[in-house]
Amino acid sequence: MFEPSSLSAEWEDLLARRPDFRDSLCLYEVVLEAWGMWSPSAVRVLCWSPEECRERWERGAALIAEAPPAFDPEALEPILGPVIEAVAGIGEVEADAMRRFAEAWDEGRLGAPALLPGLQKGGENVPAALGISGDLLGFVGYLGLRPPLEAYFAQVRPYFSADFWDAGHCPFCAAPPAFGDIADDGKRWLSCALCGGRWTIGRLRCPFCDNRDARTLTRLSAEGAEEGYVVEACDLCRGYLKGVDRRLRWNAASPLIEDWGTPHLDLIARRRGYWRGTPSLVQLAAPDPGDEGA
Ligand SMILES: [Zn+2]
Ligand SMILES: [Zn+2]
Repeated sequence: MFEPSSLSAEWEDLLARRPDFRDSLCLYEVVLEAWGMWSPSAVRVLCWSPEECRERWERGAALIAEAPPAFDPEALEPILGPVIEAVAGIGEVEADAMRRFAEAWDEGRLGAPALLPGLQKGGENVPAALGISGDLLGFVGYLGLRPPLEAYFAQVRPYFSADFWDAGHCPFCAAPPAFGDIADDGKRWLSCALCGGRWTIGRLRCPFCDNRDARTLTRLSAEGAEEGYVVEACDLCRGYLKGVDRRLRWNAASPLIEDWGTPHLDLIARRRGYWRGTPSLVQLAAPDPGDEGA
């Protein structure tokens, strides 16, 4: 179950372990506070039966594609307001972009569907029309929509079984995975940072391009005090996923918190020329060299 208060406690624990990150990651504290204050009662939940869900999953369709949520823009504002303000604090470019975001939102030119990767149709380019980079818009979406999406999918979550799903993306909201866990049983679990979905995938398989050739799959394992943390990367599509082997690090926090709290692993992966499938603060603070001017 999604409990922002326990995420806040986990976040405090993580910062106690990594005190040097406290200042550069202070944005997340504001986000967790906004999540904790928000009431999910304004969200109409998805009420499909187990059979209705299973039928979609078995033919490879994420639920959001056939049941897009209709969020009331006003109900999202108590989260989006603080998120926009926090993101605007990153720098001048972000502050300008967030001003345009807020204007477009207030005028109804921008709504939640533009922030959901699973609902984007080819040809539409909302970020370019708004003069906001895709990474930045994505980042706002991930921080602004997590609690509403958790609420939206809450009733159908228990109907999911890993046996129904064999794809790299989230079975609920269609987003790419944000973090990977090797569980006690040795299974590899993927987590969605956008809606909180979890699913399994083969150990030797790239979730982004489906590459299954061990010769082109790279695993970087941390050592010493960082033992248990891994970066799994694909040398075909160059995508990477951070993760934690919970057999070696039994006290690791939830995937979202571990993802937020390990920007140094993103930097290691990026220095080797790999890209990340989901938006992150690291990406905004230090864009890929190839992204400049885009
Ligand atoms: Zn998801
Ligand atoms: Zn790949």
